[in-house]
Amino acid sequence: MQDHLFNDLLNAVKSRYDATPDLQEFGAWPQDMTFREIAPNPLPAIRQIKKWQAPDPVHIALQNVIDLCNWKQTYTEEEVGFGFLQDYGYIELFGPDGHFLTNELRGYIAYWGRGLYYPWHHHKAEEIYCVLSGSAVFEVDTAPARTVHPGDCQYHASDQPHAMTLKSAPILALVLWRGDGLADLPKMQET
Ligand code: ZN
Repeated sequence: MQDHLFNDLLNAVKSRYDATPDLQEFGAWPQDMTFREIAPNPLPAIRQIKKWQAPDPVHIALQNVIDLCNWKQTYTEEEVGFGFLQDYGYIELFGPDGHFLTNELRGYIAYWGRGLYYPWHHHKAEEIYCVLSGSAVFEVDTAPARTVHPGDCQYHASDQPHAMTLKSAPILALVLWRGDGLADLPKMQET
């Protein structure tokens, strides 16, 4: 039962991958994925995701399995504040610590609520975002701020600082990681 809903979600992500050249160029689809049972971990943010109607097939497949997902938050209240943690969360669909195990690539589905500011952070692994629903303003150290919408991709190099601002819409994004530091977590910039 659980496998079936997670497989539906993985198939929806694979369809998005197959339709998005930027994602295909970023990394080959992992061939060694094996499903494993992980305990569900609901977070406050899933209430918002459940209410958010959007046409994207990954968005809908996520809603269908949302209560079974192992939701995570990388940051502490001290780093990002109480409000941020009420309206943010992600799952690792596949990867070293994912619902599907693989060391070839890491695939997250991540959500941030409207009005949030995700401060400057970085990580060793290279990263690409593909927006599924909503929009946000991305900032990197080397280019002007850019507003992204469904279908847009945004690449971050190894250890490149980046930040994100949510305006009047939330965002749901597929995020892939590759290369060194695949199993690490992002770190806030030291100020
Ligand atoms: Zn990042």
